[in-house]
Amino acid sequence: MTDADLPRAPNAFRLWREAQHTQSRTRLGGIYYLLAWLLVWGFSAAPGAHLLLGLGTTAFFSLILILRWLHRLPAGHAESDLRRWLDLQAWLVCGNALGWGLVQAWTLQTIDFAPSQSIAAISTIAISAAMAFTFSMDRSRGALAILLLYLPGLAVLLPDAAAHLGELATLALYLSYLLLAQSRSHREYCNTLDLELQLLEQRERMEALGHTDGLTQLGNRHRFNSLFPALLANALRHGSPLSLVLLDIDFFKKVNDEYGHAVGDECLRAFAERMCRAFRRDSDALLRLGGEEFGVLMPDTPLEQARQLAESFRAELAASGFSCQQQWMPLTASLGVGTYDPLRGGSAEALYKRVDDALYRAKEAGRDRLVLAQPEG
Ligand code: GH3
Ligand code: MG
Ligand code: MG
Repeated sequence: MTDADLPRAPNAFRLWREAQHTQSRTRLGGIYYLLAWLLVWGFSAAPGAHLLLGLGTTAFFSLILILRWLHRLPAGHAESDLRRWLDLQAWLVCGNALGWGLVQAWTLQTIDFAPSQSIAAISTIAISAAMAFTFSMDRSRGALAILLLYLPGLAVLLPDAAAHLGELATLALYLSYLLLAQSRSHREYCNTLDLELQLLEQRERMEALGHTDGLTQLGNRHRFNSLFPALLANALRHGSPLSLVLLDIDFFKKVNDEYGHAVGDECLRAFAERMCRAFRRDSDALLRLGGEEFGVLMPDTPLEQARQLAESFRAELAASGFSCQQQWMPLTASLGVGTYDPLRGGSAEALYKRVDDALYRAKEAGRDRLVLAQPEG
């Protein structure tokens, strides 16, 4: 998945990331329960005497291990799919934890398992500590899974609380530490997500800036260079025409010379705004190609339609000129217009050259006019 495919809205991004992290952090966890159980059973006083329980519990932990492994993330990032996936994964993790909690309780009250009580206790401590730090994406479910590891054992000890006071007090202390640690690692996890989101937004902003002309806010030459071949390839794929209009303000140097550079800049901004009003289709890409030269890429637009739009822009500009600081000045532009015909083919460079030649001829012929590009030879 590339950056362009990432969910854009912050909440959708968070959910998608949470699902990704949950998958990578919880997929292998099931194996430790299985191994710990095999140790507890294997080192009990009489494994053979508890064959049915041993094999049944092995099958249970193996099944959850396989389910956790097989439970793959959905391909897209639809919210409902991700939520459903997260819910099921949490069920599996909590089911695993409860299974282990019951094993721990069993060792505490079955005499044959007395030799492996410490194996079970160490495993519970290790698994719950790992849980507090790795299952930090979801605070309440993480806390529930930790509690499920301990509660069955506690339930066994409680009826004889007086005899187990020391163990119970230590467990309560450790459990409260674990829950605090899990809550802190959840906060840190959220902070990391926030940072990642900020970084993505900043990168997007930088990319947009890199493609935008600062003076007019139109796309810049860089944008044109990447967009033009892409739109041409699209036109070829869909068998639709792509028109290109090149516009160059006439005698612009004189505007700068007579009124100053700041007025020249104002004139360029006003010219760009006028373009936005004239070429209004969402699919039209308006660009400042450099200095006082502009371009419009018009997907799915035949030559005659592009010519009409460009000609009405030229005529309106010539009629209204440009006003700045209560001064009116004449303003005209010369235009070249050409179209890529997918049936005739040709490259982006060839179309650009044909339209640029047409613009040159418009200048040569006296400016303030539109000249059509020669058809592809
Ligand atoms: P022509 O009709 O042949 O196009 O003549 P022209 O004067 O428009 O063309 P020329 O290439 O001789 O001059 C372009 C001028 O555009 C020169 C340059 O100072 C000015 N220019 C380019 N970029 C900017 C800009 O960002 N701001 C301002 N104010 N002027 C600019
Ligand atoms: Mg010019
Ligand atoms: Mg020029």
